[in-house]
Amino acid sequence: MTEYEPVIGLEVHAELLTESKMFCGCRVVDSVEAPPNTAVCPVCLGMPGMLPVINRRAIEMAMRVALALNCTIQPHNVFARKNYFYPDLPKAYQISQYELPLAINGWVDIDIDADQPEKRQKRIYIRRVHLEEDTGKLTHLENGHGSLIDFNRSGVPLLEIVSEPDMNSIPETRNYAMKIRQILRYLGVNSGDMEKGVIRFEANVSLRPAGSTQLGTRTEIKNLNSFRALTDAIAYELDRQQELLDAGKEIVQDTMGWSEARRETFSQRGKEEAHDYRYFPEPDLPPLAISAAWVEEVKISLPELPDAKMARYLTEHNITPYEANVLAEERPVAEWYEATVAADGDPSAVANWMINVLFSFMNEHKLTIEQIKVTPAGLVELLSLIEAEIINNNTAKEVLAIMFTTGRSAQEVVDERGLAQISDEEQIATLIAQVLDDNPEQVRDYLQGKEQLRGWFVGQVMRSSRGKANPTLVNKLLTMQLSSLKEA
Ligand SMILES: [Zn+2]
Repeated sequence: MTEYEPVIGLEVHAELLTESKMFCGCRVVDSVEAPPNTAVCPVCLGMPGMLPVINRRAIEMAMRVALALNCTIQPHNVFARKNYFYPDLPKAYQISQYELPLAINGWVDIDIDADQPEKRQKRIYIRRVHLEEDTGKLTHLENGHGSLIDFNRSGVPLLEIVSEPDMNSIPETRNYAMKIRQILRYLGVNSGDMEKGVIRFEANVSLRPAGSTQLGTRTEIKNLNSFRALTDAIAYELDRQQELLDAGKEIVQDTMGWSEARRETFSQRGKEEAHDYRYFPEPDLPPLAISAAWVEEVKISLPELPDAKMARYLTEHNITPYEANVLAEERPVAEWYEATVAADGDPSAVANWMINVLFSFMNEHKLTIEQIKVTPAGLVELLSLIEAEIINNNTAKEVLAIMFTTGRSAQEVVDERGLAQISDEEQIATLIAQVLDDNPEQVRDYLQGKEQLRGWFVGQVMRSSRGKANPTLVNKLLTMQLSSLKEA
């Protein structure tokens, strides 16, 4: 049987977080919270004779994405009409870009092995990035008695990022999709909130004999609203194509939908080509000229992106690749980490306390890093108390938990609750003597060679000090007392 290799290309459709819509002054509202049809006007309702105006902010956001994806911005842009009828598109055409898109020829590096982020990257090329307007949103009634239409989404700026068919597996496709989402969020142009449908995917899927460079016949799966739907639909489609090929049948080029309920792809409307849409330049909009100076201005405003951050953390901060990856993952987290290091926190200690302690408090309380009461300076103060041996690691966790819920400073918590470490040798020696006195059996066993009881004694001393004894001193003084017992 022939071995086949998947060939996958992805279109990412992302709504832009502008204040107003792509071609009119209507506000872009939350698709879930705003009452239907409350952010509409004659332009986005497609009334005859209404004239569109290009949203400059949307162009700028699109340029940010295109530049972050290493694309070339085209100086001469043309908006085009894509003609088709559907109830969510009252004009019967969508203003999009066709022959002269905003940007072309970009790339992004993805991880192939997610567990080893420093290893095995693959470059995925990006064919084009263009802007269009979103359609309205149809909701089909469950009783089958019709559909509802909400035009709040009609005219929202929609960015389309089209990759080359460079992905050869489902994990690669997923990693690419997640990488694009991460960059969109870093740039502040999209919330990444998949449940609200602000990012949707379309996948082109085909199979070819392994080792061949020819492309097989592809099918296109539209409207995938989650990473789960994306990977499940591709998996299903690859299996379906494989079965056809194994049976000696041909793949028919097709546009498919994905049924979440039936867990299968289904044919939507047969072969669909660009000429079906009768694209022509939008007569109501002039061509859009983008100057080199404008491109430069946008380029300078770009934030440091996750890959660059991760590389910098590895060389400048000497933390592990795992830590660098986790901390660079989301921009607010990266900024909090950097602020903490800038406030004189030791990078390794900061990374360790953020990832292993702070994040678990955040998960527990369902808070983002922007919502917590602990500040970068607050964590640095806590770390300095550990460094100065005023508190030990265990007490520090307790202190951080209190800081987390009350917003008090580390020093305040330690003072108020008397949590400072006991470093007084005499006091610790007394505690040890008491423990040894109280446990004659264990002392006898220890003296008869049961060495492992040593750790148990340490635990008892720590307990009797309510966790505050300086563990280094406990160890040192315990050794002294035990060896003097041995000699006796
Ligand atoms: Zn409008």
